[in-house]
Amino acid sequence: MASSKLGTSSHSENENMPGSLTSCLITLQDLTYKIQSFSSDLSREDIANTIEKALHMWSNVSQLTFTRVTTPGVKADLNIKFVSGFHGDNHPTDGPGKQLAHSFYPSNNRGLAGDMHFDDDETFSINGGRGVDFLWLAVHELGHSLGLEHSYNHPNSVMFPYYKGYRPKLRLSSDDRNGIQHLYGKFAYTVT
Ligand code: ZN
Ligand code: CA
Ligand code: ZN
Repeated sequence: MASSKLGTSSHSENENMPGSLTSCLITLQDLTYKIQSFSSDLSREDIANTIEKALHMWSNVSQLTFTRVTTPGVKADLNIKFVSGFHGDNHPTDGPGKQLAHSFYPSNNRGLAGDMHFDDDETFSINGGRGVDFLWLAVHELGHSLGLEHSYNHPNSVMFPYYKGYRPKLRLSSDDRNGIQHLYGKFAYTVT
């Protein structure tokens, strides 16, 4: 989950939150993802490209790989959609502002595990347009989908729980990198 303002976040809404994160995770390294619905704020191409960019930020520093699934009726490990109000889980969205999205930890990789729901009552933008930067939000929510918790003590990390505005050169912090490498291993060059 990511919040727009300080003081509005609680992370306990995640029903898949394991008691002890690393011991309960199935950390598959080769994951599939699917974009199940889009937002009218951005073109489909911009949404798909931004999600791909966000995936790369995590896969560039770890042994993760992501493959997009577009086949109708086939679910992926990470299912991504834009939602508004009640949408079939216990986390109705809250209108403009406050919570921007929620995601589910990978847990047992069943049901909603790994899925990301973006609040379509927000205005999303890319490249510094008006609204919430969708790249930052996608990288942040992906972090949760992959098993990372919030980093309250690292304001520069992507996993800091509060949106701090558009950052032109968004990068993972060392805290983000350490977290993902702890779960999925460091990126290693392989020679074939
Ligand atoms: Zn969050
Ligand atoms: Ca909201
Ligand atoms: Zn939801």
